[in-house]
Amino acid sequence: MNVPFVDLKRQYHQLKPEMDAAIHQVIDELAFIKGKHVSDFERAFENLYGVKHCIGVANGTDAIFITLKMLGIGPGDEVITVANSWIATSETISLTGAKPVFVDVDEYFSIDAQAIEGKITLKTKAIIPVHLYGQMSAMDEIMELAEKHQIFVVEDCAQSHFSSLNGKRAGTIGVAGTFSFYPGKNLGAYGDAGAIITNDDALSEKLRMFANHGSLIKHQHQIEGVNSRLDGLQAAILRVKLDHILDWTAKRQGHALAYDEGLRNVIGVEVPKVRSNSEHSYHLYVIKAERRDELREYLKSKGIATGIHYPQPLPLLTPYASMGHQESDFPKAVANRDTILSLPMFPELTVEERQYVIDKIAEFYC
Ligand SMILES: *Cc1c(COP(=O)(O)O)cnc(C)c1O
Repeated sequence: MNVPFVDLKRQYHQLKPEMDAAIHQVIDELAFIKGKHVSDFERAFENLYGVKHCIGVANGTDAIFITLKMLGIGPGDEVITVANSWIATSETISLTGAKPVFVDVDEYFSIDAQAIEGKITLKTKAIIPVHLYGQMSAMDEIMELAEKHQIFVVEDCAQSHFSSLNGKRAGTIGVAGTFSFYPGKNLGAYGDAGAIITNDDALSEKLRMFANHGSLIKHQHQIEGVNSRLDGLQAAILRVKLDHILDWTAKRQGHALAYDEGLRNVIGVEVPKVRSNSEHSYHLYVIKAERRDELREYLKSKGIATGIHYPQPLPLLTPYASMGHQESDFPKAVANRDTILSLPMFPELTVEERQYVIDKIAEFYC
């Protein structure tokens, strides 16, 4: 049997008639930039999240950059984020001219809220918690610190569509939440796409303006901005998918439960811990595994694809070498680096495939 890490074709085949119709409609209408399909998606996303504003942008990286920029973050400022994430999180901090300050992870693969305060200085302007793998960070503690020190919280929700903590969805707690709709994300476009959500009216206007060359009305430029718009085709595709996202999230959770049950008692494997009162959306199902690289090779030889998210903590990547970080500065992220393994996870995964993955992992350790 071959078990892919993710298979986007299965989803497309399920949606083909409505998806093809939506795509052709955009082309027939030549509604490529701005217009009805973009605003339809934005309004639907706002409604599902219960937030005042959704601003579609070109991708999830821009969503972070544009938000930081419009919060006034720039040279001389510091922004705190987590040692394990996709590089977009820290790259965008640097792109504003500010300095990324990294904090080690907690037992849920998120920023260690207890370690944040020690990194706050007079230059700190914001914290970017990343709800990694689909599980939310310790938002109560983070918001408390942010209020105490008067700094912004921008939630990186690229991996946490429709995750929640204490009944509050990812992206609705900080000043803004940034989303990626990269094809492989839980809500994925057929190309690059992203969005920002916020309840702040003034910020929303600035974000929309900056993402569109600094103008809300054609040829009336208030500021210099960038060209970062959600395009019509992607918006129409996302709108079709939005009607299915809660069902897909439930399917991911079902797979996770089965993995938990099947792997919990396998010696050598630690299943992911879930924070209490939180709903994990399982963008990724990440175990900690002894002899991880050997296990990965074994699974590969049995036709099972896996991933590592990520092979190196951000502060230890080449672009940050000049900051002089040591492995010992981030002991938990470094320990995870050598044990984490992401198993096949997508809504359309079959029960047989899932069981095959569980069986082969158990077989490796017995
Ligand atoms: C995917 C991702 C991004 C960037 O999104 P793009 O749409 O690829 O630009 C940012 N942060 C995290 C944690 C991600 O996983």
